[in-house]
Amino acid sequence: MLARVFCVDGPANSSASTRQLWLLAENLLPDADIDSYTQGLMDLGANVCTRRNPNCAECPLMTTCQARANDMVDVYPAPSLKKSIKHKSIYMIVFVFKGQTLIIKNSGAGLWPGLWGFIDTEVYSKNTLDEFSKKFELEIESISRLDTFRHRLTHIDYSVHPIRVNVSGSGAHEDRVGTRWIRLNDKTRLPVSVPVRRILNSLC
Ligand code: SF4
Repeated sequence: MLARVFCVDGPANSSASTRQLWLLAENLLPDADIDSYTQGLMDLGANVCTRRNPNCAECPLMTTCQARANDMVDVYPAPSLKKSIKHKSIYMIVFVFKGQTLIIKNSGAGLWPGLWGFIDTEVYSKNTLDEFSKKFELEIESISRLDTFRHRLTHIDYSVHPIRVNVSGSGAHEDRVGTRWIRLNDKTRLPVSVPVRRILNSLC
């Protein structure tokens, strides 16, 4: 609404417009009864100065509204900028040993902090796989790619590539701090991300 009353140029979600609108809003704050003022503004925005069909005839700001005075009600506010979507690949390493698979608890820095999931990496090669195997004391027996699928986060569209790696070795089947071997048909109650749940279901 303020974008119309003061003809604020630029997309509503641009930083310049946001700054200007905040400044205007602050300058307009009354000395007292701010709650009623704020509620009144919200009511006007929700019921009178709506995005598509503003009811200018009933608006108490009709005489001061610059957009109305200049017959530019349809021009303001300018459409929001569309946020660009990035595309990325993520590889999930599904270690499998005798009907069980290894999941680990994500640290606070990962994509899904605090959730359990497969070891994941944005860069996959035989070397990275060897490093993971070594870390968990596993011997690689065979490697196969499972079906790739898409998973969309707010601004990132992921292609998820699950890679099944059948293993043996002293680390197989051994739970450690932050790691679990769970049965392939186990509907684990551990919190896991949507893509990890999808892969677990496909392994059953
Ligand atoms: S006069 Fe019309 S465009 Fe201006 S604030 Fe009121 S409803 Fe919105």
